[in-house]
Amino acid sequence: MNTTPSRKISVLFCASEATPFVKSGGLGDVVGSLPKALKKLGCDVRIFIPLYRSIRDNFSQIRPLEDKIFIPVGIHHYTGHLWETLTPDGIIAYLLEKDEFFDRTYLYGNPDPTRGDYEDNAERFIFFSRAVYSLCLHTKWIPDILHIHDWQAALVAAYLVHHWRRDPSFQTVKSVLTIHNLAFQGIFPGSYYGMTHLPTEFFNMEGMEYWGQCNFLKAGIVCSDFITTVSPTYMKQIQTPEYGHGLDGVLKNRSDRLKGILNGIDNEVWNPSQDPYLPAPFDSDNLQGKRICKKHLLKKIGLPIDQIERPLFATIGRMTHQKGYDLIHAVAPRIFEQGGTMVVLGTGDPHLASLFRELRNAYPDQCSVHFDFDEPLAHLIEAGADIFLMPSRFEPCGLNQMYSLRYGTVPVVHATGGLEDSVIDVRENPQEGTGFKFRKYSAEEFWNALKDALAFYEKPEKWQQIQKRGMKKDFSWDRSAREYLDVYRKVLE
Ligand code: ADP
Repeated sequence: MNTTPSRKISVLFCASEATPFVKSGGLGDVVGSLPKALKKLGCDVRIFIPLYRSIRDNFSQIRPLEDKIFIPVGIHHYTGHLWETLTPDGIIAYLLEKDEFFDRTYLYGNPDPTRGDYEDNAERFIFFSRAVYSLCLHTKWIPDILHIHDWQAALVAAYLVHHWRRDPSFQTVKSVLTIHNLAFQGIFPGSYYGMTHLPTEFFNMEGMEYWGQCNFLKAGIVCSDFITTVSPTYMKQIQTPEYGHGLDGVLKNRSDRLKGILNGIDNEVWNPSQDPYLPAPFDSDNLQGKRICKKHLLKKIGLPIDQIERPLFATIGRMTHQKGYDLIHAVAPRIFEQGGTMVVLGTGDPHLASLFRELRNAYPDQCSVHFDFDEPLAHLIEAGADIFLMPSRFEPCGLNQMYSLRYGTVPVVHATGGLEDSVIDVRENPQEGTGFKFRKYSAEEFWNALKDALAFYEKPEKWQQIQKRGMKKDFSWDRSAREYLDVYRKVLE
């Protein structure tokens, strides 16, 4: 594989979130960290995201570019402003200001699914997608590649095909769409189609139409020059009816332009030997600091310190149907009966939240539950826990299992998507195993895997071998960034 860039490839990442500015999940982590790795490989990468309230409140270094931009959405002509800043890694970030759309508490709506997303999300992200063209004109920087992420930016590919390539300076620009989670497609009533100003003939089965509705992600899938998703197994799964969320056929049609590239993790942000959120550093040569982290964590989450010898199970994430909280809830009493303890950090579905509230009330000395989005606590949990639970029904890639491996917290996962690709089962491969997997989505199968994990936990020497193997795994972006670079080269050929 030739990975030396023959010329500097320029790429604009267009996405609805990016660390360190704003993040609601893995998408933000990826858009924040992949550009850094591509820059190291010689690409000129910049990012473009909306200017949300939290960014304005927390980042003083952003500065406005001079001109206003005008974007038509439906019958409106909206005015926006462009801002610019540099990330700590020296990546230029452009931000789109439009307070009417982005000066809000949440990114897409209240995380409580019963409260629903913002009603004007279609308008907000049509506005954002169309602003990409204005950004390029105003900055006089027209990239080789528009790398767009998820449904919020997917229309960029459609605008490139149907509008922007009429401009000679955009004729060679290519688009690459990365699907971070096919469950979110940006589906809106068919009557919204007029808002997009895309051609009438694009609203059909081969285009953006989906059972009479507008499907933003589908528009991106059919118009992009290349499509990637975030793990090889998920790439295969999304072409099947079981995991295709209704778009398996559309994706199959594009299988020659579809690739699964496993996400990397930011090894500087997630590094137990230099993590500012931890009371003590540790690494695979010396795990003593991990015990200090566990003690600190137990104290912080209000569990008795004398439980330090007992296995501490943890889970972090969006509390949704996807993430398998029903299975965690089902096995929790058995974990507690065996003397284990558990910490849960997450926000989302109030029904799931109430189940875990009840669990905490029933086992107050063994179960600690936090309904919050708390980055420092997430780091401390990864460091202080012993076993990480990730029984997701489906998981495009998943980052927490990789963070867990790096922090010596052995993951027990459902063998799906990126979980299948990033965890090696100890029982299937005793020499190389890094965690425990179960194949059939059921509480019994999950519990069987947990029982086996507990049996290993009781043998400290063997347990440490598993921990250390996981900690030594390289999940840095270097390898995956090279694969993205190959994709860019391929579309530019
Ligand atoms: P997804 O993108 O499906 O939400 P991932 O595992 O890919 O799942 O990424 C989730 C990211 O969001 C991880 O970095 C995780 O630590 C973080 N995260 C999710 N929920 C919380 C929370 N309640 N507090 C802190 N971090 C969280």
